[in-house]
Amino acid sequence: MLGKTSPSSLNSFDACSLAWLYRKSKRQGIEVDDTPRLLGLNEHRMIHTYFDEVPENPDEKHIVSLAEKIFTDQFDKSLSHVKDQARRCWKNFVSFERDRLRLWPVYKPTGTEVTFENSDFLCIVDFFSDDCGVALDWKTGSLDRLWDDQLRQGKINLMCLEDNSHPITKFYFVGLGNNRVLEMPTVSRAWVEEDAAKMRRMVAQGKFPKRKSKLCDYCEFQLDCQFSDVCLWMAI
Ligand code: SF4
Repeated sequence: MLGKTSPSSLNSFDACSLAWLYRKSKRQGIEVDDTPRLLGLNEHRMIHTYFDEVPENPDEKHIVSLAEKIFTDQFDKSLSHVKDQARRCWKNFVSFERDRLRLWPVYKPTGTEVTFENSDFLCIVDFFSDDCGVALDWKTGSLDRLWDDQLRQGKINLMCLEDNSHPITKFYFVGLGNNRVLEMPTVSRAWVEEDAAKMRRMVAQGKFPKRKSKLCDYCEFQLDCQFSDVCLWMAI
């Protein structure tokens, strides 16, 4: 039975329901380049540590020295081949934090990486501040526009925050790759709920069509997919 829907599950189902099914059933796939995901995890871990350790009212020097120490201690050495990219993301994070220190009335967030749920959805919110009425999501890639994936994620985060009595009115995606900040536009609750309902209907009916796209090049289930609707012994 399908439990509460997370943004990553909904987005993964939308990208390709067959790959979603394989992932859900823990099928072993072939090895593919996992660097972007690991880099994202590493940056998020460093950001989480940063907010654990930063005081209520730091000055800019403190922000810079703390961030430098965390990068030295926690950068994942297995990602050395993309260290320049990781450095650039981290430098952009520090630059964003220095701006935030000057511009926001309260620096420390209410919470970072907090799991919220409501009756239908669950999500992890990267950063939220009840004092400033703002939530953030850090992206290690470059952001030039918001796609449906981000709109679903942002809306589910906002719905879960609202349903848990957090007065958040603004949601920003922070693109650490290219140092851009994009604000979540107004998205109707019904749009996301209809996407989740469609996913539930398809799962209930056992419908998991393939969806060929550029993502196939990075899909760990390329081989399973190739033969998923072929009955080899009938073709002899
Ligand atoms: S190779 Fe493409 S179509 Fe096949 S399961 Fe993976 S993402 Fe889906």
